[in-house]
Amino acid sequence: MLKKTSHFMREANFIGGAWVGADTGATIDVVNPATRQTIGTVPKCGRAETRRAIKAAEEAFHSWKKTSANDRAKLLRKLHDAIMDNQEALAELLVMEQGKPLAEARGEVGMSAAYVLWYAEEGRRTYGDVVPSPWADRRILVTKEPVGVIGAITPWNFPSSMLARKLGPALAAGCTAVAKPASQTPYSGLAWGVLAEEAGFPAGVVNIVTGSASEIGDELTENPLVRKITFTGSTEVGKTLIRKSAGTVKKVSMELGGNAPFLVFDDADLERAVAGAVAAKYRNSGQTCVCTNRFFVQEGVYDRFVEKLVEATERLKVGSGLEEGTQQGPLIDEKAVEKVEELVADAAEKGGKVVAGGKRHSLGGTFFEPTVIAEASPEMRFMQEEIFGPVSPIFRFNNEEEAVRLANDTAFGLACYFYTADLGRAFRVMEGLRYGLIGVNEGIITTVEAPFGGLKESGLGKEGGHQGIEDYLDTKYVCIGGLGL
Ligand code: ADP
Repeated sequence: MLKKTSHFMREANFIGGAWVGADTGATIDVVNPATRQTIGTVPKCGRAETRRAIKAAEEAFHSWKKTSANDRAKLLRKLHDAIMDNQEALAELLVMEQGKPLAEARGEVGMSAAYVLWYAEEGRRTYGDVVPSPWADRRILVTKEPVGVIGAITPWNFPSSMLARKLGPALAAGCTAVAKPASQTPYSGLAWGVLAEEAGFPAGVVNIVTGSASEIGDELTENPLVRKITFTGSTEVGKTLIRKSAGTVKKVSMELGGNAPFLVFDDADLERAVAGAVAAKYRNSGQTCVCTNRFFVQEGVYDRFVEKLVEATERLKVGSGLEEGTQQGPLIDEKAVEKVEELVADAAEKGGKVVAGGKRHSLGGTFFEPTVIAEASPEMRFMQEEIFGPVSPIFRFNNEEEAVRLANDTAFGLACYFYTADLGRAFRVMEGLRYGLIGVNEGIITTVEAPFGGLKESGLGKEGGHQGIEDYLDTKYVCIGGLGL
């Protein structure tokens, strides 16, 4: 049934099937980054409320894990339909708190539904094994079971789909969940409570808590009832969560920071490379962990690539996400703009040439001009740091070996992209790049069917694909003896 945006905008937490406030009554303001206006508040919960949510999830787990995969699939299909029936309202809510263009928000909500549908099906295929036994009178079974209560912590850049990637496989596997959305974008997270309730999930299967990140995080990581932590966010916070989860030896999956390189070789289709560059750089105003952080362009096409990327960058329409035709919304907050300003200033000091944009946008607030910096060099900060904003630094390279070496010269290993028309080179470069996601002549590659996840300090585990449900399952080995054979 169609609902209004306001129907999904809950100013309460969802614990054990009830909508509740913080014990202290404290709240956090939620601000629309395009207007800087407060659009509402959400509860500022801490350890006590989180503990109750975990208890509710644990109680619900005992019966939820016994439901059949088919019954869980049915509920997940209802959840999918509830999302798609309300795609417009959910997309508007997302724009209001996050700032991205409405078209991108619709895409994100559609992606959320797609993850739910995919895992509705994958949950029916969590096969175990019957292993040929080394003993004549014994049999060996390997079974898969849900890990139990999971804690999910998600960021503000994809406040809907990052939860879909976690709740989809968790619920399909038979786990129950306590989720903590980012404080900047809590409504798209709380909307999952509304949707789960309306789809008919039993109380306690999905719980959503907002508030103090460190208090909620500490309870989720230290409470022995939580058997798995799944996190998407910065590498720094991810490392803290891994450390804290060690105390109770929880499973962890981590989708952390990236530093995506985008390589353009002399033989590339330049038009295609520029179109891919715009998509891989400026989506969500550069605020995604798979956004290009560093462009490396071969000497022979460097000047032409810079010229074309500048043209495309200057054409981008900056504005409020709800305005028709907007391609670039505001950055999430003032801190994000300051970081981008610092990185641009650092590059300019070290010889970088600002050839497009470079400063705050005349719209004010947290709008920033889409920016291109030519003559980037390895001593600039964005060689190692994530920009998380609409800035394209372009480095030069001479040969393939140098390009791969520069691309790999980072602690991160999430996404990378390269453009070439040479098949041999495509394989050599693909095999040389130490990244979990590789786009060859493609700038946008995320899809529910494929495993998303980083190498090195970009994370642990995969989301999406048939792999994405594995982290929510325990493997058990059962030996049955005394068969009298
Ligand atoms: P970003 O830089 O994208 O904001 P963060 O890693 O800071 O990424 O935030 C991602 C998520 O992690 C958010 O939900 C945030 O509230 C949460 N978070 C931040 N600090 C902690 C912490 N110490 N413990 C648990 N969660 C945290």
